[in-house]
Amino acid sequence: MRITAVAAAPVRLAIPYPLYPGVGAGTKIEWGKRSRFTPLRPTPMLEYVLVRIETDEGVTGWGEAQADIGFFGETVEQVRAAVADYMGPQLIGKDPMDRERLQGVIDYRGNGCAKSGISMALHDLAGKAMGVPVSVLLGGRMRTHVPVAVEVAGGKPDAMAQACVDLMAQGVRAFKPKVGGDPDADADRLRAIRAAVGPDVSIRADANQGYSPKEAIRLCRLCERHGVGLELLEQPVAVHDLPGMAFVRRSVDTLIEADESCFTPQDALAIIRHEAADVLNIKLGKAGGFLGAMKIAALAEAAGLKCVLGTGFGLGLEIAAKAHLYAALEQVTDAVEFTELSLHANLLRPPWDTRLALPLEDGRLPVPDGPGLGVELDQDQAAQSRAMPAST
Ligand SMILES: [Mg+2]
Repeated sequence: MRITAVAAAPVRLAIPYPLYPGVGAGTKIEWGKRSRFTPLRPTPMLEYVLVRIETDEGVTGWGEAQADIGFFGETVEQVRAAVADYMGPQLIGKDPMDRERLQGVIDYRGNGCAKSGISMALHDLAGKAMGVPVSVLLGGRMRTHVPVAVEVAGGKPDAMAQACVDLMAQGVRAFKPKVGGDPDADADRLRAIRAAVGPDVSIRADANQGYSPKEAIRLCRLCERHGVGLELLEQPVAVHDLPGMAFVRRSVDTLIEADESCFTPQDALAIIRHEAADVLNIKLGKAGGFLGAMKIAALAEAAGLKCVLGTGFGLGLEIAAKAHLYAALEQVTDAVEFTELSLHANLLRPPWDTRLALPLEDGRLPVPDGPGLGVELDQDQAAQSRAMPAST
């Protein structure tokens, strides 16, 4: 089997509100300083690139890549061009089953989201060709359902608590509020959430690099003193401050997770060498796809660390892809983050349009069991959401 075409199509979805509202709302380094709002993007939106890989045997694989300059450092224009103009042409004529080799062929510096979109499409294609789910390609289907966590935008304590209560009514049982401004005010936010959701719900906190090391230690100590029961604190300090993150980790009982500091397997190794985190956050877009994600998980296993699969946002293919990864990875034991469920409907065809969506049954999503990713995009909906950026 040979690859005959690789196509990339931008997709843009409006969302009701930005997840990170800005300064004074629980985070001091996110959108307030690094706004997503520009003349080309005046309203809250999420952007993606759909990837389609075709073969001479008629089997087609689909993937999707997130595009977000603030977190991943890749715009939708960059991801489209990287897939269609640079990486795609390298794949023409090659055997799509050679996934490890092909990942090496497109292993340009950075570009994790573009690589991830191709990785997803190659795995979907290989699974369809072999008649097995992607989770089987990744090592086996250990689990059939995924517990779900959802991120909560920073804001006033009662508003954040109410957002969690509303999501609980939809079956969500794990939350990751955004913090990272003032540790005392943030501790009040987390206490309000705990009081509202009760003792049996997981609360993680994500600082998005918003603290100094000593501020992060203060937040953890306040939460420990007031019985907030924080499952973990994610990315308390700046990306490259691994000594600072190690200082936080040594100083508190709360588990510390690396997110922005952990894109690649090499990043994971640096975190392990610095003893800077207890938990590694894996996202397909950071790791450049399934193979990078599996390598980070292997490093974590060897070092005795846990892993969390974080929100990368997705149209539906990404949701399925993360469910397959969770099903196959033993060291990911806790809830997987699918914040997009709370922001927009997915673009999948029935029955997965409702099965991979809120409300949840028992706080979990089912892992698709069909060949490949086991889900199909609704092409009409995708076409309606197609967006060529205004600059091209
Ligand atoms: Mg994060």
